[in-house]
Amino acid sequence: MKMKCQRCLDREFDVPDFSLEEKRTLTNLKANYQLAELLERIESIDNMPMLNAKFILLHINGTHGKCNRCGMDDLSGEYVVCPKCKALNFNWDIKEPNGH
Ligand SMILES: [Zn+2]
Ligand SMILES: [Zn+2]
Repeated sequence: MKMKCQRCLDREFDVPDFSLEEKRTLTNLKANYQLAELLERIESIDNMPMLNAKFILLHINGTHGKCNRCGMDDLSGEYVVCPKCKALNFNWDIKEPNGH
């Protein structure tokens, strides 16, 4: 799907439909600040251009519900614009369906 963040570059980026497994891996890397590896992973998933991969990297939330830009911690929805700072968030819910 096409996505755009009004706090960043004024252009649209193609965001692939990530699997739950991919979302887990990417979110965990982001949460642990392993950004070089995160970038490599994203690029390898869809053979995507560096700029596109960087856009995705920047917008993944390390903590579910917490804005990656201003830290507002009441976000709901998967691809959501923060009501406070207007940044786009990839607010993936990566919890196991059976708890954890
Ligand atoms: Zn942004
Ligand atoms: Zn925000």
